[in-house]
Amino acid sequence: MNAARKPQSPQSTLLAARLKERIIRNGPLSVADFMESCLADDTAGYYSQRQPIGEHGDFVTAPEISQIFGELLGLWAIAAWQSMGEPKSFVVAELGPGLGTLMVDALRAWKSVPAFLEGVTVAMVETSPVLREAQQTALHGAPVPIQWFDAIEDAPRGPLIVIANEFVDALPIRQLVWSDGGWCERCVTIGPEGGFAFCSGRTITNSGLQQAAEPLDTPDGSILEVRPEAGALVSLIAARADQAPLAALIVDYGHGETACGDTLQAVWRHQYADPLSHPGEVDLTAHVDFAALKDSASAHGLQSYGPMPQGEFLLKLGLEARRDRLCEKATPEQQERILASAIRLSDPEAMGLLFKTLAITSPGLAAPAPFVEA
Ligand code: SAH
Repeated sequence: MNAARKPQSPQSTLLAARLKERIIRNGPLSVADFMESCLADDTAGYYSQRQPIGEHGDFVTAPEISQIFGELLGLWAIAAWQSMGEPKSFVVAELGPGLGTLMVDALRAWKSVPAFLEGVTVAMVETSPVLREAQQTALHGAPVPIQWFDAIEDAPRGPLIVIANEFVDALPIRQLVWSDGGWCERCVTIGPEGGFAFCSGRTITNSGLQQAAEPLDTPDGSILEVRPEAGALVSLIAARADQAPLAALIVDYGHGETACGDTLQAVWRHQYADPLSHPGEVDLTAHVDFAALKDSASAHGLQSYGPMPQGEFLLKLGLEARRDRLCEKATPEQQERILASAIRLSDPEAMGLLFKTLAITSPGLAAPAPFVEA
């Protein structure tokens, strides 16, 4: 992807003005506060006002590349339900379901297991009104009860299976900068030219900062990213695991080991953009730290499996067999598309390695396939 130049919209200008007022009033904003406002501001936030997914949007996600992705995640949900002992009534919650495509495809997989289809209630956790509407349209007439919620806390009680594809990468990150033997909060301020610019904020004391407290042999200027809301998400699902079986699958792009690096990125119309220049107009994400998620899970007494590269995960769940099945009924042109999209999802050079899958389950549950006990 190349860097893209984007004209400033009236909403973005308004959001920029409000952010600058906040900076003038209270001082520089942490990267997390800046990212939170850009993504979730009620009137001008990125997700509050637009449908960003697909060839005509800003980015394409795995469910939009091939129906096989949602079908195989649907199969994973069946494996998780089996590891729970096939409860009669249970909830599948999807976090940040985008256009609803993954759930449409998962439902197709569930049709082959009537007891699953009869017992499931689907909880769609979505804050964007625009995407909620798209999901409702996509799932109109679905053969199972489907409810929408703002937060996972509100999903119905009972055995719970959680699916989150490209959800965690959109949760705000804090960036900490190593300087003079300590961590400082990386902040956003108003630069000399009047635009936004990064600056160093207050020094962080190590207390409460699990990763940053670890002695890292880091040169000055190194950036460590922490994502408080990811830890909070694990706490929330852990609270549910106290009451009933839980299995969660987190799929996202990111790294398996905690490491320093600036991964904050902005994307607009399939091209990289400047993260500070167009608040609310460009998608802001950052790599998921899977090691941090695993640490949170184990701190709450939960089991975790993986991260397993997305390619390996999909292949083990039957990507090739499903691909060949689809090709049987397809025209040569369609076959070409089916083959290309299967490669895009699983090839290490495409999404197969950078994207990873992590399962988190309540203690005592057997590992849901394709994960195996350590
Ligand atoms: N899972 C979808 C969409 C990924 S984009 C796919 O793979 O295509 C991120 C999704 O998370 C969007 O649906 C966005 O509206 C939603 N989202 C972002 N922050 C959220 C939050 N805090 N709570 C609930 N949904 C959120």
